[in-house]
Amino acid sequence: MNNFLPIVYFRNQFIPFEDAKISIATHALHYGTGAFGGLRGIIDPQNPQQVLLFRLDNHCQRLSNSAKFLHYDLPADKIKNIIVEFVKKNNIDKSFYIRPFVYTSDLGLAPRLHNIEKEFFVYGLELGDYLSPDGVTCRISSWYRQEDRSLPLRGKISGAYITSSLAKTEAVESGFDEALLMNSQGKICEASGMNVFLVRNGQLITPGFDQDVLEGITRDSILTLAKDLGIPTIERSVDKSELFIADEVFLSGTAAKITPVKRIENYQLPESKPITEKLRDKLIAITENRDPNYQDWVYIIPN
Ligand code: PMP
Repeated sequence: MNNFLPIVYFRNQFIPFEDAKISIATHALHYGTGAFGGLRGIIDPQNPQQVLLFRLDNHCQRLSNSAKFLHYDLPADKIKNIIVEFVKKNNIDKSFYIRPFVYTSDLGLAPRLHNIEKEFFVYGLELGDYLSPDGVTCRISSWYRQEDRSLPLRGKISGAYITSSLAKTEAVESGFDEALLMNSQGKICEASGMNVFLVRNGQLITPGFDQDVLEGITRDSILTLAKDLGIPTIERSVDKSELFIADEVFLSGTAAKITPVKRIENYQLPESKPITEKLRDKLIAITENRDPNYQDWVYIIPN
């Protein structure tokens, strides 16, 4: 059972988690017409009176963009103010995960986005390691990531996660921890809820935005960090076979942080992962506000 934070934002007010209820006829439940964000709130290890939110503005902007695809005008600033208030109201003493969500809240039938009510809510839960920090095994999924011509891939649209769910379950049911999806061109795209990186001959490689990837905020942070650390980086298409012979492969996401990949299908990857570890240590130090050079990425909320 998940451990939810006691207070949620629902229908323009802050109320107890148990009181936030929606109808079985809710439009978004039937048509996947919702979109969500996901952020980690960390208790500041240097000052437990403070909660730290990593790249809050970017998360709010991405959700505002997702809302636009649902024909819902929800400015990033409004989302930000509500999230900050939500954190304050919960008197948090443990690190947690925030899930802001926009959706078509009408009770009518028929898939559409016009002439239909929308709502925005925020709730939170405790979330430990989403994937094992020691590393995971991956299967190449038989399910392909959607294309932008079918679905707006720059938003985190709930309906799109049927593909992630199919891929993840297929992977787990066949003995792997996680799935790697290809795009319709047969190029490696991302995992079920993470972006993917590989290292070959000292170069950091990740599929570019023309490869149907989500605009991951961790992905963007890693590319910036790698450049600052002098690690050569390139965004380009990636073939499946390149992963099998890579020096290092890792997954990135708010929930998964930087998770090393140990094996893909039957291809064991090297034990030594110097670049993965360097980036992971740096990213964790930044999210815990221990790095003076990236303080503008950390939003501090007094508790
Ligand atoms: N791809 C998908 C499909 C995701 O759901 C996520 C998680 N939001 C990511 C990538 C990673 O994005 P981020 O680093 O912003 O969490």
